[in-house]
Amino acid sequence: MDKDNEYSINPSESHTKTTWFERAIFISWYCAKPTCKFCYMYSIKDQIKTPMMARRRLESILAEALITKICGWEIGFVSAGIGSWKTTELKEVLEGIKKITGKKTWLNLGFMPESQLTELAPWIEGVTGTVECPRLDIREDIVPDKPIDKIDEMFGYADKLKLKKSITIIIGLGETIDDFKVLSGMIEKWKIHRINFYRLVPHESTVYTEGPSTEYYLKWINMTRLSFPDLQIIAGSWPDKTSEIEHLLTAGADAITKLPAIKYFGKKPAVEIEEGAKKAGRKFIGTLTKYPKVDAKRLLYDAGFDENIAARILEKYERYRRKLER
Ligand code: SF4
Repeated sequence: MDKDNEYSINPSESHTKTTWFERAIFISWYCAKPTCKFCYMYSIKDQIKTPMMARRRLESILAEALITKICGWEIGFVSAGIGSWKTTELKEVLEGIKKITGKKTWLNLGFMPESQLTELAPWIEGVTGTVECPRLDIREDIVPDKPIDKIDEMFGYADKLKLKKSITIIIGLGETIDDFKVLSGMIEKWKIHRINFYRLVPHESTVYTEGPSTEYYLKWINMTRLSFPDLQIIAGSWPDKTSEIEHLLTAGADAITKLPAIKYFGKKPAVEIEEGAKKAGRKFIGTLTKYPKVDAKRLLYDAGFDENIAARILEKYERYRRKLER
């Protein structure tokens, strides 16, 4: 597949003509501060005590990046729990991803100090502030170790380094629509480039039992779109909610994320995303249903990987590909 393939995205077409799928690449299931009360890492905190217990191998991460490239998905961000990777190791991951995708990567790794951001800047598109809940009194209780002032500090470093900024918001954590003004103030103050909305999906062993209604989730997306016409809005949708894709897009989302796309490739939720895009009058860039015929080995050699690492990536890639084609 060459660089000018039909899957390339023209940002100026985003929320009017095209849409796409974004996959977050998780590189670790360890978190040094597993205290956010809605998070999967919070629910497994007693099982994972050291970073090395829950880290993925480089070749596995790069094989996933290769799948995203081949399917025409974007990498939403590289994500990991706090304190799970050293800067030198992250550099290797980001370098590898850039070789494969040809693009810099968004990061969602919690607070990053200036020295770390400076070192990684050549491979970073932007950094993510995990606001999660715009109702700040509730936030203090459920997100105790990610204070807003640390996000503010990190965004200051991002500005210095000319990196883009993004925030994540989970709808359904106890906020009400009145808290939109808080969110709106954050977007204006930090000059946010993009926002990832998720609807709460309650995990077992957390205090949450119910997620928000579709109408309420759509209202947040729509109010954000109406207030910020140029903001990139990415909306999360789970496999049991993909019938709402058309509405997420017409409410103002640019793209869809969160579906475990390798597991559901070609299955009903994936088909519903492509169909939802069509119903919303958007051209879906890439594919969630038909695996493209590609010489993955050639792609890796062309990207500049040597034989040894290419072979390791390919071995993992083949496992993913078989899952997708099954
Ligand atoms: S810091 Fe991130 S990974 Fe850790 S518990 Fe909170 S949301 Fe989960």
